[in-house]
Amino acid sequence: MTTSTWQQELKKCVKCGACMAVCPIYRQTGREEMVARGKLNLIERLNDEDQLPPGWVEAVDYCLLCGACEENCSKGVKITEIIADARRRQTEKLGLNPIKKSAFYLLKNRILSLPRFLKIASLVQWILWRRLPRHSGLIRRLPLPGFDDKTVIPALPLQHLDDHLNKRQTSSQLKPVLYFPGCATRYLFPYMGLDLLYVLEQLGFQGIVPKELNCCGIVTWGAGDLKSNRELQQRNLEVFQKHAEIKEIVTGCASCAHALKEYEGLPEGCEVLDISEFLFRNREKLEQLVGEKKLEKKLTYHDPCHLRKGQGITSQPRWLLKLIAGDNFVEMQHPERCCGAGGTFGLAHKKLSREILNEKARDIDASGAEVVTSGCPGCLLQLTEGAVVADSQWQAEHPISLLAELLREGK
Ligand code: SF4
Ligand code: SF4
Repeated sequence: MTTSTWQQELKKCVKCGACMAVCPIYRQTGREEMVARGKLNLIERLNDEDQLPPGWVEAVDYCLLCGACEENCSKGVKITEIIADARRRQTEKLGLNPIKKSAFYLLKNRILSLPRFLKIASLVQWILWRRLPRHSGLIRRLPLPGFDDKTVIPALPLQHLDDHLNKRQTSSQLKPVLYFPGCATRYLFPYMGLDLLYVLEQLGFQGIVPKELNCCGIVTWGAGDLKSNRELQQRNLEVFQKHAEIKEIVTGCASCAHALKEYEGLPEGCEVLDISEFLFRNREKLEQLVGEKKLEKKLTYHDPCHLRKGQGITSQPRWLLKLIAGDNFVEMQHPERCCGAGGTFGLAHKKLSREILNEKARDIDASGAEVVTSGCPGCLLQLTEGAVVADSQWQAEHPISLLAELLREGK
């Protein structure tokens, strides 16, 4: 955003305070500077040449970029864009936090790369972490700075999605679609990617996964690192151009879909679809495949912010869950409320993130569901932690894995 776009956008805010009713940070802190109205007031005071005003860093950092304020703002202020851009200004003035700087370096570097780093970590993770008895994920064995005894991290697999794909054969008779797995699925939860590819094949599509794909860039955008964001976007756009004959780019990650839909310069006629949109588009075939089969377990659904507020997708995931679980799909209270993960927010502001998660865990508990589903790997990790914190039995699963489970039944 340029300074003049900022100023125009900020002028749209009429200080009505409607954003206060929905902001998870405000709900926990009760502080005006934590809600969109307060943040915008502060941001409005900054000129390009100014020092950051007092309280700026805290106000700008304490935001999940969940978009709840934007969804509730009758003036249509582009609040998340303003806050992300405020982070860009902050980064230009103060530099990037060293942890984020190292993480983004690994995301961009092809030699000292994130997958290599994670593979080495997967070999030694058992020294410090142990598997959770009832849930996927790991908790610490010993006191570790920044992690309490309820913090859940993913179990790092030795085989990434790309390793599985090297061994996999698919029929060339199938119609190709480009599959963008995203970093979390590719390196942390490869089974979700395999489930998605399996479902695509059942529907007559071959998911093409080019190895040169990079991170979608959403974390760099959220951190205000525009240079890294542009670099990652550019690399992905080059890959999309190489496969320009494929017109559908599908992803099972709500955050990736949200980021990719914002790319300028996608190949002509090419569109990005969240997997729930893609399945809904192919619903006739999918309804035939599922037939009368239904999952026995009781499910509920958490709307990922990047799916609901970022892309306006709410009905397609619910249609899918109804299809695979029938009356066993129940709504929880406030499915639209953020789970508190917010990209790296949960790592940087653990206490606040946990308080937001506690509310979500109470809503899941009250639904009586055995499984909470969500189309975002980041939310699924946070929700798994929610079950541990609440000492509850429910599991967190991607709807695509539940669909794959149902379709595999009896095969
Ligand atoms: S809801 Fe929109 S217009 Fe109202 S105070 Fe919040 S940002 Fe401003
Ligand atoms: S994006 Fe979410 S956390 Fe940030 S100000 Fe808006 S409602 Fe609050």
